[in-house]
Amino acid sequence: MALRKEKPMTNLFIKSLLRKIRINRIITRLLGTQFHTNINRIEIDVTWNCNLHCKNCDRSCRQAPTQEQMSIQQIQKFVFESQQNHKKWEQIRILGGEPTLHPDILAILKILENYKNFYSPETKLILISNGYGPIVHSILKKLPKSIVIKDTVKQSPDQSTFEPFNIAPIDLPGYQQTNFLNGCWITTYCGLALNRHGYYPCGVAGGIDRVFGLCLGKLQMPKEPSEMLPVLDACCRLCGHFLRGYFIPKEKRELVNQEPCSPTWKKAYQNFISHKPELPFF
Ligand code: SF4
Ligand code: SF4
Repeated sequence: MALRKEKPMTNLFIKSLLRKIRINRIITRLLGTQFHTNINRIEIDVTWNCNLHCKNCDRSCRQAPTQEQMSIQQIQKFVFESQQNHKKWEQIRILGGEPTLHPDILAILKILENYKNFYSPETKLILISNGYGPIVHSILKKLPKSIVIKDTVKQSPDQSTFEPFNIAPIDLPGYQQTNFLNGCWITTYCGLALNRHGYYPCGVAGGIDRVFGLCLGKLQMPKEPSEMLPVLDACCRLCGHFLRGYFIPKEKRELVNQEPCSPTWKKAYQNFISHKPELPFF
């Protein structure tokens, strides 16, 4: 197996220094925010149930497992809203959790396929699966041809390419002067997200909300990226992805194995176990 070539340390250092400067409050006031939510793409977390409890899962499927899932009616509502808003999505990615474990996944895909076929033929429908285990494989074989399957071929809970997710930037020194509205590449590349509690600037923010119980989901489809700013402000300060470039690669690899958890996350998981938050429904 070919080893991935690591970027030279000086490049990483410069990149991380530039990010650190860019997210500073004063610089953000001058230049605006670094990343913007892409409202032409969307990810739908149809379920948070997963058969692989990966370390550093950014939907907290390992630390805060749940069988919760979206209903068929919620998917119908999403399609209805999309048409009402004349929304022809560039791409809709279906994920979770492990989306194939949703008992109604075929019906959900049919609804989305109809949206594509009869309303928005250019929309790419992509299902992201961990490709783990015979049950997942048997469902993948049944999916319609119009759905692009991205199999991430996971084999165990150890994911060496993941980032330490449960480290809240607000728990680290050096993030006191940060403007968290800056977000990260995920909100720009993956776009909006929808789960059973509403719309978010990214799927990760939705996963954070379900653990912290902040009730941030928008119950109506956002029309402007600016509608997502309060959610970014609340979630990016808790999100390990915001720290990209903060750790040097060797340190990051060790941390990923240890699956560190900063005090804010420890408290949130304890609260989740003792008193699971209740959030409004989309
Ligand atoms: S397969 Fe994906 S959703 Fe499931 S635990 Fe791993 S990272 Fe999380
Ligand atoms: S919540 Fe996390 S993943 Fe989403 S934009 Fe903020 S830093 Fe990125």
